Amino acid sequence: MDGQNAYWDGEVEGLARDALESLQEERFMATLRRAAASPFYHEKLKAAGLDLRAIRGLQDITKLPFTTKADLRAYYPDGFLCVPKEKLVRLHVSSGTTGQATAVYYTKRDVDTWAHLMARCMYMTGARPGDVFQNMTGYGLFTGGLGFHYGGELLGMLTIPSGPGNSKRQLQLMRDFGTTVVHVIPSYALRFMDFLMEQGVDPKKDLSLKIMYMGAEPYSEEVRRRVEAFYGVKAYNSYGLSEMNGPGVAFECSAQQGMHLWEDAYILEVVDPETGEPVPDGVVGELVLTTIHREGMPLLRYRTKDLTSVVKGTCSCGRVHRRIARIQGRSDDMFIIKGVNIFPIQVEQVLMAIPEVGANYRILLKRERDVDEMVVQVEVTDRAFIEDMRHLNRLREKIVHELKNELLVTPFVELIEPNGLPKEEGKAVRLIDLRGGGVRASTPFV
Ligand code: ADP
Ligand code: ZN
Repeated sequence: MDGQNAYWDGEVEGLARDALESLQEERFMATLRRAAASPFYHEKLKAAGLDLRAIRGLQDITKLPFTTKADLRAYYPDGFLCVPKEKLVRLHVSSGTTGQATAVYYTKRDVDTWAHLMARCMYMTGARPGDVFQNMTGYGLFTGGLGFHYGGELLGMLTIPSGPGNSKRQLQLMRDFGTTVVHVIPSYALRFMDFLMEQGVDPKKDLSLKIMYMGAEPYSEEVRRRVEAFYGVKAYNSYGLSEMNGPGVAFECSAQQGMHLWEDAYILEVVDPETGEPVPDGVVGELVLTTIHREGMPLLRYRTKDLTSVVKGTCSCGRVHRRIARIQGRSDDMFIIKGVNIFPIQVEQVLMAIPEVGANYRILLKRERDVDEMVVQVEVTDRAFIEDMRHLNRLREKIVHELKNELLVTPFVELIEPNGLPKEEGKAVRLIDLRGGGVRASTPFV
């Protein structure tokens, strides 16, 4: 096979389903034996009265207890380690939404496996040696930077660690070195788009971009469409979390019909977030992951809080690793207003389908005289902004109307000038809940 469907790692990536399942079985059993040596799992399994001999194979995975973020915090900093500290070569700390951070350790083999998975992801979308890869996300403790960086180098791309922000320098690098592949978080892809327009740059004519990877925060299909149309690229969804190494857990292939979750490295379950029971394919639930190819710090049945579903059927690219759908958000991103459950991404879907809407938006929840109100602040494009008040009022009414149709709640909409909303260096803060005194921001700063 050649072109975009070629395998980076034919031996595993191209396995038939039954061979993949035998490999999983073998790695799962080895992981269990190794995990039991960590202080956390030693105590957890003992407390659950579970004799590991009762787990005879993957079919028994549901007998194992879940592992949660709270467990990681309680056993911070090293209660999950299964190897002597001398074997460790890397540490990442997740920023976390609230409270105590969580630590993830890697052995040399773990760093290599991770790079390998990342190279596999990018190769799958057509990236090749000879490509120039500009990695426009945060380096440091955020796993997105180094994860993609090591993968890009292993694949053989000229990898530029440009880091986040500083749009002027990003553009300069793209021009000077002929960047063809970029990795960027979606909120910055939108802002960079504004910057290029301001500069009068048309990426389709003036730059050499072909491929864009976007992940680390939820975004809608509408954002992908905007990005692809403006930059003239194919944009691929990238999913991962620090607890599972970082990026490289699931990634879109050239078919762009869901993200292949690398089942030789992770066991995939989707469960009802309330009951913890498995849900059928196609039904949205919480993603639960078990690492089966990690040495330093294996995690069993980790509750990601991310909501998704298993995509039914087989992929046209031929890979048998199952696919997950676009992440809707974390279970704790959902907010309730006037009795209706809403995810920020539903607001985004409506907004980004309206051409006059610009790069940024945020949702404020307020309580005025005991009544909850939802305020949606929306940046408009430069062109919409210079229109007269009558036009802007009509636009505002249109946004209210479309949001109401989708959400069944009537929001207040405030139009904001281009670049008028606060910018984050890392993940965007989409939701600010000002009800009940404290402020709860949906996504942590990176
Ligand atoms: P933190 O929990 O501090 O944000 P991470 O950087 O590990 O730390 O973030 C991982 C989380 O980012 C995931 O659990 C998920 O909620 C979100 N995420 C990552 N990739 C995507 C994606 N492609 N779509 C939606 N959300 C994503
Ligand atoms: Zn595919």
